[in-house]
Amino acid sequence: MTSEPMRILSRRQAIAAALLGSRSLTIPAKGLDGLQLAVGGGRIDVNFPSGSFGGGSDAIRQWILDAAQSVAGYFGRFPVPRAVIEVDLQVGRKGVFGGVTYGDVPARTKIAVGERTSAEDLRNDWTMTHELTHMAFPNVPRQHHWIEEGIATYVEPVARAQAGLLPVEEVWEEMLRDMPKGLPGSDARGLDQTHSWANTYWGGALFCLLADVQFRERTSNRRGLQHALRGILKAGGNIEVEWPLVRALKIGDDSVGVPVLMELYDGMKDTRVSTDLPGLWKRLGVSATGQGVAFLPDAELSAIRTAITAKLD
Ligand SMILES: [Zn+2]
Repeated sequence: MTSEPMRILSRRQAIAAALLGSRSLTIPAKGLDGLQLAVGGGRIDVNFPSGSFGGGSDAIRQWILDAAQSVAGYFGRFPVPRAVIEVDLQVGRKGVFGGVTYGDVPARTKIAVGERTSAEDLRNDWTMTHELTHMAFPNVPRQHHWIEEGIATYVEPVARAQAGLLPVEEVWEEMLRDMPKGLPGSDARGLDQTHSWANTYWGGALFCLLADVQFRERTSNRRGLQHALRGILKAGGNIEVEWPLVRALKIGDDSVGVPVLMELYDGMKDTRVSTDLPGLWKRLGVSATGQGVAFLPDAELSAIRTAITAKLD
């Protein structure tokens, strides 16, 4: 699958393909450079092969710093006290090829970068932010893997937009384009029962979007998913711990004051639930134009749409 041209895949399909592909192109480094970053109350140790990237080590540093600051901004702090990031080199390639984040102590992300990757490629990359977002939620039993990928998929563009690193239009353009992948197929049996790639990443992301909108509708737009996820992290729910899913969801709901996560989960865990996405986009006041999206300020939930990508202190 990795031989397929990356441009014909969506961003997240590309990463899934890279994860499934061979790692044989990864070679041992000639030597390792190390750097240490302090972000949002956390310390990040980065190891990467010496002098090997087209973009240079400053670009690697800025890439990780931007991602870590986006995640720390979204969650109110960096999710773990200490993290390790191991960057592998991929010979002859350009781009970022997959990442995996482990719930070790310290939390650890492994990620591969092509030697021909430029500073600009890294500036536009979403993968590092996705991986670091994983550090902000507890490990949950395997059947709930959709919540881990769903949060990372949904939060990544929102966090980058809040940090000023991604235009808000692109956040919604992607949602309109990719969220339909999260709609259950005719043979789906609920989020905990259906383990396809689409259900795991986009079914989980759709759960997050619905939760965000419902939290805001039920709190007069004062609180959203971001407050719930901050509450879970504040209670100790980062990737270094293992929790039952319901414990995290209840803490999230308590942080906002309405039981949106538990109600959605009870409804969607074992049952195929269809969502009227065109109707939701209309209520949120966003429509596809062919070149991107247009916002409709008079729409019923326009203020909620704006609040989702607004920076939260
Ligand atoms: Zn992931």
